[in-house]
Amino acid sequence: MSFSELGLSPKVLAAVEASGYTAPTPIQAAAIPHVLARRDVLGIAQTGTGKTASFTLPMLTRLESGRARARMPRTLILEPTRELAAQVEENFTRYGQNHKLNMALLIGGVSFGDQDAKLTRGVDVLIATPGRLLDHFERGRLLLTGIEILVIDEADRMLDMGFIPDIERICKLIPPARQTLFFSATMPPEIQRLTEQFLRDPERIEV
Ligand code: AMP
Repeated sequence: MSFSELGLSPKVLAAVEASGYTAPTPIQAAAIPHVLARRDVLGIAQTGTGKTASFTLPMLTRLESGRARARMPRTLILEPTRELAAQVEENFTRYGQNHKLNMALLIGGVSFGDQDAKLTRGVDVLIATPGRLLDHFERGRLLLTGIEILVIDEADRMLDMGFIPDIERICKLIPPARQTLFFSATMPPEIQRLTEQFLRDPERIEV
């Protein structure tokens, strides 16, 4: 299997080549075609499997058509910690080196002002921790009705950190026409229930 067989755009393939990757990892080979086909995905995978590129690369391909509007982000990636959110932003920056995309990182511990200015410009890729995302939402600075793709990453860590009520709330704020990509290393009952509530006929991929 090679990256060029997965349906990714030429811009994304060029960035993959620049990263020096020779072949997709198993989760990438399995997930990328489904993400491009707009299917919901349930990925059961640890960090280190290439999970991040399995959603980043096809999302970049999908984002090549369409344009972001002010305060209406097109995609949302939820991460349990600031560190993981920053890593995902680095991945989008690296693989999106040939794209002109607006990105914003909404995490705690930094001022609202810069984050808010980015939301005003229109955001293609919004990466956030749940608490800070809801803070912006409650201040009326953010609309979640334009989200085309929602990624819930590291769901079992979200559970450990007490974020499940926030995740449920966010999922209910985003119109159901979205595509949802859900990743967890393990599937405890609370996470299983969440997938049943918020995923639509998901493609289940376990690596
Ligand atoms: P992740 O599981 O997303 O945290 O990725 C783990 C590491 O694997 C990261 O350092 C990536 O840069 C690297 N990586 C991702 N995909 C590939 C690939 N297809 N070939 C080689 N390395 C990769």
